[in-house]
Amino acid sequence: EFERQCDLVVTALEAVADRLAEEKETLTELDSAIGDADHGANMNRGFQAALEKVSENDAGDPADVVKTIGVALVSTIGGASGPLYGGSIMSASQELEGGITADSSVAFAETYLETVESRGKATVGDKTMVDALTPAVHTYKKSIEVDDLDPLEALAKAVDAAQRGVEFTTPIRAKKGRASYLGWRSVGHQDPGATSTLMILEELLAVAAEE
Ligand code: ADP
Ligand code: MG
Ligand code: MG
Repeated sequence: EFERQCDLVVTALEAVADRLAEEKETLTELDSAIGDADHGANMNRGFQAALEKVSENDAGDPADVVKTIGVALVSTIGGASGPLYGGSIMSASQELEGGITADSSVAFAETYLETVESRGKATVGDKTMVDALTPAVHTYKKSIEVDDLDPLEALAKAVDAAQRGVEFTTPIRAKKGRASYLGWRSVGHQDPGATSTLMILEELLAVAAEE
């Protein structure tokens, strides 16, 4: 069972890496409006490195594979988003030590969000990845724990919530990260990190739907 779950994580990583490679220009354009035009390159570099690292390592359990991805991202994405994406995946990987289940996936999502928040000190409304991530994680948790949906349905709802979160970043002013240096001039632009978070969630959903 662990072997099947490791394969699933690798399949998800491949889907995410492919998507971010395709979207490199889009993410770079978003970051050129309110940042330093490197978010597309950062994410693509990080996920390509994660693919390489994962293919070199012999997978033990799914938590190891996820941790390896986090380590690769921390050391290659750089900027503000490297430690946020990579470090949070590393911390959250512990939740998968007993395997991937509906419950452990909720714990993973919650620890991931908590780590992003504690490292970046951003909250909802600051125009960051937190604006996509928070509604996605809350929706995922509620869908599983309260509404008793299965993980695939819960993930579909989480993606919808993230989509609305991304849209919400456009009209607001950035209060964290590079975009905050622009003050009111950041208004009217969609946040790159929230957008890449949505893209990743969309790919996780697509892979889960194929299962
Ligand atoms: P950098 O801004 O260092 O060039 P990137 O361009 O890779 O890094 O990433 C920018 C994205 O990082 C932003 O769009 C935003 O979503 C996210 N971000 C920046 N600072 C923070 C923070 N303090 N907390 C959460 N997310 C942040
Ligand atoms: Mg940037
Ligand atoms: Mg940068």
